[in-house]
Amino acid sequence: MTNALEVEDLRKSYGDLDALKGVSLTVPEGSFFGLLGPNGAGKTTFINVLVGLVRASGGDARVFGHDVEDDYRKARDRIGLAPQEFNVDRFFPIHEVLEHKAGYHGVPHDVAAERAERALKQVGIYDKRDTRFDWLSGGMKRRFMLARALVTDPDLLILDEPSAGVDVQLRRDLWDLVTELNERGTTVLLTTHYIEEAERLCDEVAILDRGRVVTVASPEDLMDRGTDRVVVTLRD
Ligand code: ATP
Repeated sequence: MTNALEVEDLRKSYGDLDALKGVSLTVPEGSFFGLLGPNGAGKTTFINVLVGLVRASGGDARVFGHDVEDDYRKARDRIGLAPQEFNVDRFFPIHEVLEHKAGYHGVPHDVAAERAERALKQVGIYDKRDTRFDWLSGGMKRRFMLARALVTDPDLLILDEPSAGVDVQLRRDLWDLVTELNERGTTVLLTTHYIEEAERLCDEVAILDRGRVVTVASPEDLMDRGTDRVVVTLRD
C-alpha cells in the first residue's frame, strides 16, 4: 500500500529551541490520522515543514513518495491545507481567491471556476461567493479556509486545529464533510488538542509532546491505556 506521508527523523530548530526533535511517522493512504499534542508540541511546525513554509533542520519527509524539499511542487500539489491562521488574499471576492489558488496548482481556468463553485457549496458559503474574505463572519472564514484546501482536489487534506473556537454547528458540519471526503479516499491529517475529536474521527493517532512522538496508537487503545495520562499530557 502507498503511504500518503513518510517522515523520518524530522528535526527543526529555531535558534536554541528544538521544536521537532527527530519525528518519524507513517500515514497510510486513505487513513484518517490524528496528531495530538499540547500548545507548543510542534504540530504546526511539523505541518509547515510538509507544505514548505519552514525548512527542516534535518531528516526527511515525503508526500506520496515526493520529497517535500527536493520535489517540492509535486509534493505540494497533492496537499490541501486548512491552516490555523487566516492567511488569505483580502482584496478579491472569495470565489476569485479560490480560482487563483486552483490555477496556481495547475488546474485549467475553466475547471478552476467549477472547482471554486463546488468547494464553496461543499462548505456551505456559496451564497457569499462575491464577498471579500474580511466581510465574512468568523465561522464563515473557517469554512472558507476549508474550501481553499479543497479547491485543488487534494489527495492529502491537512487540517490544523480546525475546531478551535468554532461553534457546535460548524464543528458538526466540518466533521461530517471531512469524514465523507475520507470515505471517498482522501487521506486526512488532523491536528487537535481534543482526545474526543481524535477518538470520534481518527483511525490512528500520534501524540506529539515537546517535539517528540511519544506514542502512536488507535484512539481506542489510547483510551484503554488510560485516558488520564493522555488528557494530562494534553492539558497546558
Ligand atoms: P499550538 O497547539 O499552540 O498551535 P503547536 O503544537 O502547533 O502549538 P508549534 O507552533 O509548532 O506548536 O511550536 C513549537 C515550538 O516552536 C514552540 O515552542 C514555539 O514557540 C516555537 N516556534 C514556532 N514557530 C517559531 C518561529 N517562527 N520562531 C521561533 N520559535 C518558533
